[in-house]
Amino acid sequence: MKIIFFDAHAFEQEAFESANGGVHELVFLKPNLNAQTADLARGADVVSIFVNDNASADVLEKLASAGVKLLALRSAGFNHVDLKRAQELGFRVANVPAYSPYAVAEHAIALMLALNRKLIRAHNRIRDLNFSLDGLVGFDMHGKTAGVVGTGKIGAIVAHILHGFGCKLLCYDVQENTELVKSTGAKYVSLEELCRTSDIITLHTPLLPATKYIINAERIRQMKHGVMLINTSRGGLVNTLDAIEGLKNGTIGYLGIDVYEQEQGIFFHDYSDTVLQDEVIARLMTFPNVLITGHQAFLTHTALHNIAETTLYNVSCWAEGKETENELAAKK
Ligand code: NAD
Repeated sequence: MKIIFFDAHAFEQEAFESANGGVHELVFLKPNLNAQTADLARGADVVSIFVNDNASADVLEKLASAGVKLLALRSAGFNHVDLKRAQELGFRVANVPAYSPYAVAEHAIALMLALNRKLIRAHNRIRDLNFSLDGLVGFDMHGKTAGVVGTGKIGAIVAHILHGFGCKLLCYDVQENTELVKSTGAKYVSLEELCRTSDIITLHTPLLPATKYIINAERIRQMKHGVMLINTSRGGLVNTLDAIEGLKNGTIGYLGIDVYEQEQGIFFHDYSDTVLQDEVIARLMTFPNVLITGHQAFLTHTALHNIAETTLYNVSCWAEGKETENELAAKK
């Protein structure tokens, strides 16, 4: 099958070419999928998209009129796909439900440690031959209370690692993970109690209407002064303007984000020769206690290998006229 990859990056092409072994025709395109670029898919059997591509209703209609009916997501999240419209248009859509929850969980921990121990500041100082320790005081993770919001695959791994550090665990989820409670002594509480009691709060729920702005001004007001907030899940979980207020008044003592609600069109691109137009991320970048990475939590060799294998497996199932178990919207 001919697969057009939108938003294709050099870092993933090698993994795809090696997993493909020449079976499918792979065409890697740099542009994101949107209403302006959808027609580039003409002649392809399958379109493959990543997290910052746009598969809204109008884009899907354009893909359908370009003759494409198969959509292979290279991500677990599918909040960027209008599944209802996809189904109506007869699309088959499949995702990669789990490629490496460890990659994302470990990145969340990396953000916590880098913020806590001020690693970026320390590194920059040393490069400037400044070996002073002033301003670099951190805290012991051991004995702190960590609040894990969303205890699915990634959240549970984060909780296990934090348990290893000697943190007390509070969890919030619509579904309790009994194995996690048994193995770590984690306690499920309301989101309000988690916010009131945690020293570190880390977000691991999907972005859904119910979780949009799950962290907002009201929640931030409930948090401990100086709390550490980590978001490696989806930008829309946090109201960024409210988080900026929380940083200004000191409620949020540390903010680590790998995702940003307006990241589409910013993350994954090199703007180093241009003027940054996004005022909100520009403000975030002025805080010494904010650490931003550009949606790289998934980016490990293991995860890239697994993404390539599963995406191509999904396409091969379709090529053989079979359904894949990763299908999100089956053809009617
Ligand atoms: P998962 O489905 O295994 O777990 C999600 C958990 O959220 C589940 O336990 C679910 O019950 C819970 N949940 C759902 N709705 C909720 C609600 N309203 N309130 C509280 N909890 C709720 O998913 P996962 O594999 O752990 O991934 C979590 C998220 O991480 C993904 O949805 C994705 O947005 C994000 N992610 C980010 C990256 C990255 O590179 N930054 C990579 C992969 C995934």
